[in-house]
Amino acid sequence: MFTIKGKTGEWELVIGLETHIEVLSNSKLFSGASADYNPTVPANTQVSFVDAAMPGMLPVLNEFCVEQAIRMGLGLNAEISRTSKFARKQYFYPDLPQGYQISQPAEEPPVVGRGWIEIMSDDGKPKKIFIERAHLEQDAGKLKHDMNPTKSFADYNRTGVALLEIVTFLDIKNPENNSFITSPDEAETYLREIRDIARALDVSNANMEEGSMRADVNVSVRRAGTNEFGTRTETKNMVSFKFIKTAIEYEARRQIEILENGGTVSQDTMRYNQADGTTSVMRSKEDALDYRYFPDPDLLPLIIEDETIENIRKTMPELPAATRARYVKELGLTEYDAARLTETVEISNWFESAIGDKPTRAKPIANWIISELFAHPEHCVLDKSLQRDDSLRIITPSDLAELVDMIATNDVNGKMAKDIFIKMLDGENGSPKQIAEKFGLKQMSDNGAIESVINEVIAKNAPQVEQYKSGKVGLIGFFVGAVMKATGGTANPEIVNKILKDKLS
Ligand code: ADP
Ligand code: MG
Repeated sequence: MFTIKGKTGEWELVIGLETHIEVLSNSKLFSGASADYNPTVPANTQVSFVDAAMPGMLPVLNEFCVEQAIRMGLGLNAEISRTSKFARKQYFYPDLPQGYQISQPAEEPPVVGRGWIEIMSDDGKPKKIFIERAHLEQDAGKLKHDMNPTKSFADYNRTGVALLEIVTFLDIKNPENNSFITSPDEAETYLREIRDIARALDVSNANMEEGSMRADVNVSVRRAGTNEFGTRTETKNMVSFKFIKTAIEYEARRQIEILENGGTVSQDTMRYNQADGTTSVMRSKEDALDYRYFPDPDLLPLIIEDETIENIRKTMPELPAATRARYVKELGLTEYDAARLTETVEISNWFESAIGDKPTRAKPIANWIISELFAHPEHCVLDKSLQRDDSLRIITPSDLAELVDMIATNDVNGKMAKDIFIKMLDGENGSPKQIAEKFGLKQMSDNGAIESVINEVIAKNAPQVEQYKSGKVGLIGFFVGAVMKATGGTANPEIVNKILKDKLS
């Protein structure tokens, strides 16, 4: 269990996350305007009369956005409400033409109810994180303050795009139930899992850098071993895993210091200051906003039929957690490898296509992808949000399969394989086998040929042979090096080792 040491003892963290993901759909939640997230689209070109809040315009619920919410709900193992409602959340700010945001009220069931996901806890054991709810709401527009010294501009392209807000659950009545996030690392793991599920389901790009995923971070602290929850603060609108972790830790330490000095934590809304990694009060509970929620008279209750849910359930793909479990159990990968290879569907598809029908390729291919391909994503699309550069030599799953097979059959050693890989990155066409042939990269695996080189090396280095025989076995490296040098790096190191040891003993 993650704890922070204060002056007077250990403290535990209690963390609640409200995660917003922007729903992928052609049009917005209540209007026909395009919901395409694309920063190159000129400002205010994807705004309908509904989004601009022209008088008399009526919102029409986008059925596809509801299906997306149901899909995500099923991915969160959650109950789907058969009836839910939309309400107006009033606030006045230039990013909101309507003067209210259409959302689903906290007091009533939202479209997605209680659920859970499983994450790897800090103790390396799987842990369930309970979800309280997920509701649909409208996104706001974007204000630009840096275009003119005295004016601000508003871009309403994003206004009205569907957001799904996913809120984690704290079991206030059963405080010993630890199914919540308790450390900065777990917060990151949880968010990555939400992201991976959303991507696997095509519900959202869930990309923090692009703003299609953001989180409000609630933090409180309590003395280690106690069950009572402390007063929390909420840090708004976090858009990077790194900042979220820094903010949680800073906020926890700040609260611990207050409590240890006999003070009380006040339930404030905080902002995160990127420049120095601190948090500061944005507004206190006393001036909490009164949103005056009231039912939206323009929208009927949302009724979802069992059949709709069942039809969506039938089309659910394997989720990242199940894929990971399969990679660990059936392919013998580590949890870490499995997690990296299931970050996007593109990666796991690429990986599985490289394995083909040879599971023995799994581990070496996993290693190549994680340590080499991830460093060169432009050569193969492993993430939909990245652009493949077709002017480059594309590395395909079958290229990598051929390469690891060449190592497995001792046609090339690891060093040569790396050379072939680098040649591919540099634009060399042809399959790995053809490249190997062209550049004469062939491992010497013929025992007889290797043995004669070894004989020469032994003859030339009599003093070292003496030392080795008298117990300086560390010299084996010297002999292997000499043989490799004499063969221009082409000898099979395993065979060299074996014959050398035989001869020297
Ligand atoms: P709101 O912020 O709109 O009032 P909630 O009361 O539902 O919404 O809480 C938001 C998030 O804060 C939830 O994820 C919840 O689990 C979490 N939370 C509530 N109480 C605490 C607490 N004492 N410590 C940490 N997180 C908390
Ligand atoms: Mg909140």
